[in-house]
Amino acid sequence: MSRYATVDPATGEVVKEFDTMTDTEAERAVEAAHAAFSNWRRVDVHTRAAVVQAIADAHRDQAEELAALMTLEMGKPVAQARGEVELSASIYEYYATKGPGLLADEQLDIAGSGTAVVHTRPIGALLGIMPWNYPCYQVARFVAPNLLLGNTILLKHAGNCPQQALRIAGIVTGAGGPDGIYQNVFASSDQVAGMIAHPHLRGVSLTGSERAGEAVGGAAGRNLKKSVLELGGSDAFIVLADADIERAAQDAATGRFANAGQACTSSKRIIVEGPIWDRFLAAFLARAREWTMGDPREETTRLGPMSSASARADLVAQVEDAVSKGATVHLGGELPDGPGAYFPATVLSGVDPSMRAYHEEVFGPVAVLHRAGSAEEAVRIANDSPYGLGAAVYGADESRAADLADQLDVGMVGINTTVKSAPDLPFGGVKNSGIGRELGRFGLDEFANKKLERRL
Ligand code: NAP
Repeated sequence: MSRYATVDPATGEVVKEFDTMTDTEAERAVEAAHAAFSNWRRVDVHTRAAVVQAIADAHRDQAEELAALMTLEMGKPVAQARGEVELSASIYEYYATKGPGLLADEQLDIAGSGTAVVHTRPIGALLGIMPWNYPCYQVARFVAPNLLLGNTILLKHAGNCPQQALRIAGIVTGAGGPDGIYQNVFASSDQVAGMIAHPHLRGVSLTGSERAGEAVGGAAGRNLKKSVLELGGSDAFIVLADADIERAAQDAATGRFANAGQACTSSKRIIVEGPIWDRFLAAFLARAREWTMGDPREETTRLGPMSSASARADLVAQVEDAVSKGATVHLGGELPDGPGAYFPATVLSGVDPSMRAYHEEVFGPVAVLHRAGSAEEAVRIANDSPYGLGAAVYGADESRAADLADQLDVGMVGINTTVKSAPDLPFGGVKNSGIGRELGRFGLDEFANKKLERRL
């Protein structure tokens, strides 16, 4: 099967395959993006903003088609898919409306005579490499700020979302900008490496696994190119003894099982203070049981299939490893009969550091509950991870919860809420979760030239 293929994860059927581009096409794409940059950077920012707004409008006009493709290609339940399209549209709209103001010159207060101004300017042609788990939203986080800024884009989408990739390309190229500012590339890993090495490519942004992050970040480093890496996560959800148990259980279940647990900021490790363990476990299991599996095309389905048979096989191996070493299965854990990459909502406890599920990212609908002897132990368990993306702390005493939150080595933390992405909030992590930030004003700065203009 081709690297780029639509395979329906609800049935396993190969729906459509696409050819990978040739090496010559890959090289020409970089040259076309570079050529388009020389023009696009000179276009007035309000004209660029109008193009970005047209992309937002087209997402809303084509919401049903975009959502249906997500459901077909990676199994997202259609109601959740529509929510993702609207979030993506709101990101384009945010940069169309707020972006020009965020690019305003900054006058520096300097010690010497004369003036010093910092302009925010584009740097050139960029490559975006995106995953399948939020196939519209991930693209929007990268494309919206960079088109607004005046950079041009090559977009390599995940191999299992080729039709979504082509529809997004149609939307962006149909939004009224000049030719060459956005190109979809069905590239191989070797071609990606060649693009990064090309002297006319100025930066690369990857959202994906650590493995891909090492390959892409390594190539960027060797070629002295700027990179932004948004990688995996294993977010802790801490429930303190004074927390509102029902609310915490509800949010933890949604945080863990939405998108079939395949989100970087899923609540993958739920850490509960000892005195409320039994009550929280009962409340959480009640909520987890509401996430029943179903056809992702049905309006009421909350838990669809995983994205692929191989993704499910990886998850099953992690669960089997934990169970064979003594973890307790409170719910789920059994492979269902029949076609499709389905896996039920599953709840484990007793997961210790000898098990893969303790340190690895568990990328599917499997909640791992840890019991902590104290709030301090909860923080220690939370930080005992190679990842540092997001976290949540639930407790009635908000200032204590905030103090504990401050001790977590993460890029984003919620107090009595999970971290939810929004156009104006920075998104990103520390440790193995990545390098850099997207969204808000931070997303505009990553691939910007902060250019000093000095006058005496
Ligand atoms: P993945 O296998 O790393 O793939 C992500 C993208 O990287 C795909 O387009 C993939 O292409 C490409 N890729 C993989 N290896 C590459 C290489 N050596 N050179 C060039 N490109 C390469 O990740 P995934 O399974 O799609 O996505 C899930 C991961 O993304 C999870 O770890 C999740 O936590 C993370 N994620 C992070 C964030 C964040 O903001 N921090 C957000 C969402 C997801 P192919 O598909 O063609 O292989």
